[in-house]
Amino acid sequence: EEAKVIRNKQVLARDYISGNPKESDIFPLIIHQAVLVKNLYLSCDPYMRGVKNPKPGRPQFFAPNSPIVGYGVCKVVDSRHPGFKTGDLVWGITAWEEYTLITDTSSLFKIDQTDVPLSYYTGILGMPGMTAYVGFYEIATPKTGDKVFISSAFGAVGQLAGQFAKLMGCYVVGSAGSKEKVEILKNKLGFDEAFNYKEEQDLDAALKRYFPEGIDIYFENVGGKMLDAVLLNMRLHGRIVVCGMISQYDLDQEDGVRNLMQLVPKRIRMQGFQVFDHYHLYQNFLDTVLPYIREGKITYVENISQGLDNGPAALVSLFSGLNLGKTLLLVAPQ
Ligand code: NDP
Repeated sequence: EEAKVIRNKQVLARDYISGNPKESDIFPLIIHQAVLVKNLYLSCDPYMRGVKNPKPGRPQFFAPNSPIVGYGVCKVVDSRHPGFKTGDLVWGITAWEEYTLITDTSSLFKIDQTDVPLSYYTGILGMPGMTAYVGFYEIATPKTGDKVFISSAFGAVGQLAGQFAKLMGCYVVGSAGSKEKVEILKNKLGFDEAFNYKEEQDLDAALKRYFPEGIDIYFENVGGKMLDAVLLNMRLHGRIVVCGMISQYDLDQEDGVRNLMQLVPKRIRMQGFQVFDHYHLYQNFLDTVLPYIREGKITYVENISQGLDNGPAALVSLFSGLNLGKTLLLVAPQ
């Protein structure tokens, strides 16, 4: 049913653009409150893993013969919604195609600040940025001097979470999957330390090397063996912010975690969250992050592929770690 709906939207959008009278006769009725957008940038995100390995009970972002659904930055080319007008720039849920008819506009945010790169609204100023903000400021209960560890630290979320922690005066260490990523974390993004987890035989020993006094906040992006090693190195009253567990997404059965008992004697709080529960904070988030960007206090690294044809490779790179920074597609210049 979902695939059929998406397919119909596609046909209607195409016929509307080409001016096909038969289809466009019914179009205005169907698109009451809808907007037609031109997709400018499309975001590649780990939650879209259903594309790679769909599983029952997980949200489906891919239906055969239909465009992939995901976040993007778009320009409104026509609108039947009083809140949007032709020429508006927006970000939110769209589809991997040139033009999309968006009938549910509840996920769309208008872009008012355009003195920063528009592509940022797929990353630092969009969903991943909000994720770093919510995870760090709302869930982690951070304070100056905290010792913070971030896994997948050079990703769309991790690079920002680490810089928030530095701005708060924390000691920050990140893990990433290549020498190049580790160098960028230390030399460009201001992390105190970083290490390549793929080169460490013993993750517990690596963490003890960087955190001889233990970890106050763990910003969890990967799960599995890393989580197990972190549990051994948490401090009393530590906080584990469970943002994601990318190492587990494609497994038929999740890795067993052996050290959960550590939560009890160390009084650790371990809390998951979903960014979409917190979008009411979006304006607070912009008020925090935009000045940091304008003042050059935050750096954000993007990995932009050109054109829809390169979309599949860009998306898959998230799961092989070949991406460097926030991964996205440029579909069309404004
Ligand atoms: P990233 O940009 O970090 O991209 C994914 C990265 O994960 C890869 O570059 C790779 O980096 C690493 N990775 C891939 N496979 C593995 C593996 N098997 N083991 C360890 N690391 C792996 O993604 P995001 O920053 O967008 O997302 C980070 C996390 O946040 C994800 O877990 C995601 O699902 C989660 N998330 C959660 C949200 C929420 O609401 N809770 C919202 C958005 C994202 P490397 O080379 O370093 O291994």
